[in-house]
Amino acid sequence: ETNTPYHFTDKPEAEKRIVPRQKFSHKGTFGHAVLIAGSFGKMGAAVLSGRACLRSGVGLLTMHVPACGYAIAQISVPEAMTTVDDTEKYISKSPDLNSATAIGIGPGIGQDPATVKALEKVLEKAKVPVIVDADALNILSTNRHLLFKLPANTILTPHPKEFQRLAGESSNEFERLEKARAFSSKYKVIICLKGANTAVVLPNGEVHFNSTGNPGMATGGTGDVLTGIITSLLAQKYDPADAAILGVYQHGLAGDRAAEARGQTALIASDVIEHLGW
Ligand code: AMP
Ligand code: MG
Repeated sequence: ETNTPYHFTDKPEAEKRIVPRQKFSHKGTFGHAVLIAGSFGKMGAAVLSGRACLRSGVGLLTMHVPACGYAIAQISVPEAMTTVDDTEKYISKSPDLNSATAIGIGPGIGQDPATVKALEKVLEKAKVPVIVDADALNILSTNRHLLFKLPANTILTPHPKEFQRLAGESSNEFERLEKARAFSSKYKVIICLKGANTAVVLPNGEVHFNSTGNPGMATGGTGDVLTGIITSLLAQKYDPADAAILGVYQHGLAGDRAAEARGQTALIASDVIEHLGW
């Protein structure tokens, strides 16, 4: 180990973080993930993140979806329990979080004012690790007081545009990375700056560059898959820094296997889910 804050997540770095399953374990051992996702026209994001969460080893999954998403979630993700919001087309309230061991929020939720309130409620009630993605990040950007409500070590997974909305314009990659380090240390959150070689930025200043993934993954829904994977690892009690670093690695690895199986061009987010596992 050197004194530089820069690290590289290769196979051994990822694998040393994996906790093997024990013989006498049961589904209670592997936690209960609660995923808050979806809105009218964007239920696919909820389905993708839910399926990825289950494929990453969680014991139990509850998906909280808008009323219009009830049948979609139950049919597309039969292994998950589904709780339904009061509102038809978007999420307007926090689900029951009492038995949750981790919370994922954001894929496909949109930015209705009622959804802003729901996000605020979830952040206030959360007693377990949280990952915030997609439209939930955009809500943070336009309701900046919510940034101060993020529990310590919350994981944020912005793509470049979402990060720009959160932290402002950067003229190059280096400046963006330094902005992420400052943001991470200011709000005490973990930031996965997504792209080729996703950088996982920790509040202590460390940056972990990922080694897996390919341009075939530049297609709708792959980010929602990552959210499901990391929610799953958090629910299983992986330390948030390990969940972010390992989750990003596994996501890219599954993407590389999917690209090998059918080429980069044809790759879709569902293929990444099908190739998860270690
Ligand atoms: P999102 O934009 O939220 O759907 O997230 C896209 C996901 O695909 C992120 O996990 C990115 O790291 C990944 N991705 C996108 N483009 C590339 C690329 N050129 N190389 C590797 N991974 C990529
Ligand atoms: Mg996304």
